[in-house]
Amino acid sequence: MTPADKPNRRAVIDPCPFPEKNGQMMIGGIPLDRLAARVGRTPFYAYDRSVLEAHVRALRAVIPSSISLHYAMKANPMPALVQTMVPLVDGLDLASGGELGVALNAGARPETMSFAGPGKRPEELHQAVAAGVTINIESSSELPTIVSAGELLGVRPRVAVRVNPDFELKASGMKMSGGPKQFGVDAEVVPALLRGLAKEAVEFMGFHVYSGSQNLQPEAICDAQNKTFDLALRLAEHAPGPIRLLNMGGGFGVPYFPNDRPLDLDPIVANLASIGERASSVMPDAELVIELGRYLVAHAGVYVTRVIDRKVSRGQTFLVTDGGLHHHLAASGNFGQVIRKNYPIVVGNRMRGEQEEPVSIVGPLCTPLDILGDRVALPRAEVGDFICVLMSGAYGFTASPHLFLSHPAPLEVLV
Ligand SMILES: *Cc1c(COP(=O)(O)O)cnc(C)c1O
Repeated sequence: MTPADKPNRRAVIDPCPFPEKNGQMMIGGIPLDRLAARVGRTPFYAYDRSVLEAHVRALRAVIPSSISLHYAMKANPMPALVQTMVPLVDGLDLASGGELGVALNAGARPETMSFAGPGKRPEELHQAVAAGVTINIESSSELPTIVSAGELLGVRPRVAVRVNPDFELKASGMKMSGGPKQFGVDAEVVPALLRGLAKEAVEFMGFHVYSGSQNLQPEAICDAQNKTFDLALRLAEHAPGPIRLLNMGGGFGVPYFPNDRPLDLDPIVANLASIGERASSVMPDAELVIELGRYLVAHAGVYVTRVIDRKVSRGQTFLVTDGGLHHHLAASGNFGQVIRKNYPIVVGNRMRGEQEEPVSIVGPLCTPLDILGDRVALPRAEVGDFICVLMSGAYGFTASPHLFLSHPAPLEVLV
């Protein structure tokens, strides 16, 4: 049975969605040793198209039809992957002019895209106006640039306001709202900004609220969604026109670490359905959006390295690989983790649960931070074997300092 045939109506995330055959991990139906030969060298990131498609389709099937599902491209902007995502989701969320270019090349329609992020450069705002995407204003100082770009190009820019609400997403891996923040316009000054907007030649679309990332507690996510909707309703009274777009954020977390339980979607789905129902009477023109990054792509990716050396130091076994922190900062624990924990790791050519031993997996960098696995139990691995870090489809390749120590960059394949 291919992953696409699997009954997966609940869109549950499996940290290892890759089947095993003759001891080899199968990615996109190809045994790992064969795939590695095809790629030409290690390390590389491999993303499995059928895992991606099955998962996003399953998620789309459980999310109420009143809610649009967007992909937040910064999680993984590989062009081929974005192209795969475009027909699976209702829109894309962009965080730079560079991402805008990739999205347009991937065939995404401008009217389904929005562009958020602090510090948008004038040329990026011009690009976005020219493309016709919705710009989520994060600061009142963006408005004059957007207006003049619109005049220059003879188009009415589409704008929404990203609001920094007065609440936060509780129990989140990364909080991005509440208190002083570089993101969005503080909720209490949004009415004044909206009055200013009314006088400008722009198309007012609505609001964007993004309160945090990597959350595994459904109650916290529902709570933030409800507060977001209430806040949007209050702010709508000051808006120059009907709310046509309400991006309620995302924050859906994925299970990276041993004690993480996959997010229970049922309460979230029910909550979204009730928000959709409320909106149909009090905000009838609004398209309601949730934007997810890692939840859509993390488990479909694996980072593949090879063992260069096996050494024992004072009783502890180290596997030194050709990959590490410079390719996969998040797995090394240096991308926002407070206490370092191990990502799920397997020996990709010894998947048959042979006798396990505790090993530490490190990279080739001269820093003790370069660690991919701290005393993990793995089948005995030799020089040349594949050490594979699972849950690596998001915040891997583009979220890592490739230049550090001048090793070759990793490759990326979508299979
Ligand atoms: C980073 C980001 C996302 C995606 O976050 P994930 O944790 O990957 O889902 C979505 N929206 C905004 C505004 C972001 O900054």
